Amino acid sequence: MTLHTRPSEAKKLISGATGDWEVVIGLEVHAQVSSEAKLFSGASTAFGGEPNDHVSLVDAAMPGMLPVINRECVAQAVRTGLGLKAEIHLVSVFDRKNYFYPDLPQGYQISQYKSPIVGEGIVMVDLPDGESIPVGIERLHLEQDAGKSIHDLSPTQSFVDLNRSGVALMEIVSRPDMRSAEEAKAYVTKLRTILRYLGTCDGDMEKGNLRADVNVSVRRPGTEFGTRCEIKNVNSIRFIGQAIEVEARRQIEILEDGGTISQETRLFDPNKGETRSMRSKEEAHDYRYFPDPDLLPLEIRAEWVDELKADLPELPDEKKARLMEAYGLSAYDAGVLVAERETAEFFEQVAKGRDGKAAANFVINEVFGRLNKEGKDVASSPVSPAQIGAILDLIFEGTISSKIAKDLFEIIFTEGGDPKVVVEQRGMKQVTDTGAIEKVVDEIIAANPDKVEQVKAKPTMLGWFVGQAMKASGGKANPQALNEILKAKLGI
Ligand code: ADP
Ligand code: MG
Repeated sequence: MTLHTRPSEAKKLISGATGDWEVVIGLEVHAQVSSEAKLFSGASTAFGGEPNDHVSLVDAAMPGMLPVINRECVAQAVRTGLGLKAEIHLVSVFDRKNYFYPDLPQGYQISQYKSPIVGEGIVMVDLPDGESIPVGIERLHLEQDAGKSIHDLSPTQSFVDLNRSGVALMEIVSRPDMRSAEEAKAYVTKLRTILRYLGTCDGDMEKGNLRADVNVSVRRPGTEFGTRCEIKNVNSIRFIGQAIEVEARRQIEILEDGGTISQETRLFDPNKGETRSMRSKEEAHDYRYFPDPDLLPLEIRAEWVDELKADLPELPDEKKARLMEAYGLSAYDAGVLVAERETAEFFEQVAKGRDGKAAANFVINEVFGRLNKEGKDVASSPVSPAQIGAILDLIFEGTISSKIAKDLFEIIFTEGGDPKVVVEQRGMKQVTDTGAIEKVVDEIIAANPDKVEQVKAKPTMLGWFVGQAMKASGGKANPQALNEILKAKLGI
């Protein structure tokens, strides 16, 4: 075993024609900062609107305009850095990254190059099998988004929409710490959850508010890193996984054929399921970075960072640990519940003063399951935590069985109402009256003498009697009482 070997490593290797390969992945995630105004202008960041509705003279790069830093965007970057347990740099520098593109009227993007606002940090990534692995963060810097060129409106003309021009982005660069498509997907999922908890980026990948450049290389296990290719601008978690898998395969095939990988920028085509070259390293831009002379180095106060830190919400890892501790939940259940701040809040309202595990089971399996089926989330849930709590109380008191609870939940979900009242009105109460259960049992025994013979030889047949009696009682017989009565009457 080498230093870098982790317990689950073996199962992640890709087997090629000539042996095993390991894929190495590092991600550069672009996250749009949640803010009212752009990074250096007062124009709105609202999504949609008519083309060029949200464009100030600064965003259009009119001569003589000067950028003025938006304090809130800086605060958001600092909050994000704190959420990534990263070093916050009290002095950072904005540089000009020079290139020409029609949707970039300045002729350069203002970004941070050598001195980013946030340095090294860490994200604990939760894998589907329950294991958590650390992924290092190299840096986070602030930069401007570009506008958008539109080529499909006219056969002879192109148009430019500058609404996004100047919107603040955080570029979050990971270390090459991921070893499978699964891990990369789990990393983006976790990063997105953290950003959403912090309120620093809404994580809406469909709107392009979170997108990733995916760096992929392959190597023989335990050897030096191979040459990487960078797959630009992948905009869904599923596509990130697919892009990694096809790119790793492509590189392995080249290497196994005796070829070499040339460092290049590639694009993923989800329709064809392949990556293709966009530009090679030789064609790479020389951006001629230099400090933007219109902007002083950005200096922030340590006290301000402390204030922002004190105001941070409880983050997913801490919330998960607390839910496990306070409610006796498994890591898996706690992980599901903390995926969104709202789902964890819903659960806690249900669980307050009740059995935590029972509450988690019901919320995850029944409530989330049903919401998923409807394409809804907790924010648009037709059932409230109070209603779910009332159902759990009815189970706990023995008024209804857990089987009837599912029917009751369905009624409350589709029709609403107070669970206690519905149980009364619809006669859903569990029958604990032993006389009534005995009557049902007697009838079944009398009608099935053959089965009675069989169960004496094979006690597991009891289940058949339980099923019959439950059916006859409309699912309302108290299961424990029913079992006892059946065993007594059958003499087993
Ligand atoms: P650049 O400055 O050219 O963008 P960086 O060193 O900043 O290069 O790396 C960019 C991204 O590529 C980072 O996310 C890093 O983790 C990743 N990376 C670096 N080397 C490799 C490699 N050999 N294989 C996969 N990813 C890599
Ligand atoms: Mg880079």
